[in-house]
Amino acid sequence: MRRTLPLLVALATLPAGPAAAQDVESVLQAAGKAMGAPSSVRYSGTGWVANVGQSHTPADDWPRFEMTAYSRTIDYDARSSRETYTRRQGDYPALGGGTPLVGEQERTLLTSGDHAWTLRGSDAVPQPAAADVRQLDIWTSPHGFLRAAAAADDADAVDVVLEGRELTIVSFTAMGHRLNGTINEDDLVERVLTWVAHPVLGDMIYDHRYTGYQDFGGVMFPTVIHSHQGDPRLNPGHNSMEITVTEAAADVDAEPLAVPDNVQGATVPPVVVRSTQMASGVWRIYGGSHHSVAIEFADFIAVVEAPQNEARSLAVIAEIRRRVPDKPIRYVVNTHHHADHAGGLRTYVAQSATVITHEANHEFYDAVFFHPGTRALEPDLLSGRMPWFAPNRVPAYELVGDDGYTLTDGERVVNIHPVLRLGHAGTMLIVHLPAERILINADLYSPPAPGADPPAVTASMRSLAQNIEQLDLDVARHVGVHGLVGSHVDFMRLIDGE
Ligand SMILES: [Zn+2]
Ligand SMILES: [Zn+2]
Repeated sequence: MRRTLPLLVALATLPAGPAAAQDVESVLQAAGKAMGAPSSVRYSGTGWVANVGQSHTPADDWPRFEMTAYSRTIDYDARSSRETYTRRQGDYPALGGGTPLVGEQERTLLTSGDHAWTLRGSDAVPQPAAADVRQLDIWTSPHGFLRAAAAADDADAVDVVLEGRELTIVSFTAMGHRLNGTINEDDLVERVLTWVAHPVLGDMIYDHRYTGYQDFGGVMFPTVIHSHQGDPRLNPGHNSMEITVTEAAADVDAEPLAVPDNVQGATVPPVVVRSTQMASGVWRIYGGSHHSVAIEFADFIAVVEAPQNEARSLAVIAEIRRRVPDKPIRYVVNTHHHADHAGGLRTYVAQSATVITHEANHEFYDAVFFHPGTRALEPDLLSGRMPWFAPNRVPAYELVGDDGYTLTDGERVVNIHPVLRLGHAGTMLIVHLPAERILINADLYSPPAPGADPPAVTASMRSLAQNIEQLDLDVARHVGVHGLVGSHVDFMRLIDGE
């Protein structure tokens, strides 16, 4: 539910006396007086940005990239924001999804009203699914928080002592999200915390800490912005961004942000699922950016990969039902723990499928991913079927260690192998059908369309080739969770640089 925030009535400049603890209006007035109440801000600096959901293993933090130049302009009246940064691998370890980042990359993230888009070169790429969080980002900024709190009809304030310091927590609802912010003894917004829906982490903590305030030409602005996505108590992956602010200005003459025509009417595209038979009882299920493979056994079906989210899983399951109406889906193989590849697993768990995953994922999946905690922002099938599907009862796991794992009914054989020495993820599994000579991989090699330019050889492709050789796998066809189906001959031609 998106709610338009009414424009804020200018904050009255009352003297900043000792605020009555529960009087939210005077707390906000004091903060507005201390911080200024600009209609727009622009700030810039350097820092790092993380690839959220793409840790090397669940025991690691999100992988980081250096930001050599960051700048952001927020127009509170227009509800618009333009964020631009240049990122590169820098000195951060090339472990996790998206690493190593080759060269420098400029990214521009925009929002205006209910619209969100990015720039590819000078082309606008609509991002309708990002609009909610991009708008929320405006109201979690230091001055945005005060404006949204003043405009909310349910704001309250409470004095607390946290880690030995007296702070005031201001809470309210904006755009259907609960926002909590702490105001410190100098009447400055120090921390703003809310939750956003995430397919793996559920109601995911989204937390910004604002410290080292300085006066930038009459407006107070933090010199350090540190952000979390994920709960640090549960998940080593939580540090998402840090900016050291070197310049800030209020009430800037920003060009009003025009929403491009192709962004205006953009909506979240429907889930598309198609399937083709690759061999007897083997179907490739595709249609989006991430694919699955269904494998039929005598009495059951196993699915390789449950990517993205519940909407995709439900559509994939419906397609499997169409192909094989009378057998239960008993197993789901999870290639690795990255959020875009694991996000649909809960839907299968809610139907009592056994999850085949790398043993390094077990603790995180039990404690966080399949935990029966609340998913208030986006309830899914599994949250509605707790506690029957609580950890350590269901889901059942088959954990894959160094020796691999074989799924068989005596007839069909499917071998699941861990991929060793891989920078992309330390939890990676590949799936081999020896009789059909099919190898399924995620994020290592995405077979291109026939006639397309051959992809550049990456470290992940070399790892895949080494693992195939070491495991002595007989492969004729590669099936990518991304990309298409390609021959092993073509793959080896790339690797050998012919
Ligand atoms: Zn990945
Ligand atoms: Zn991927």
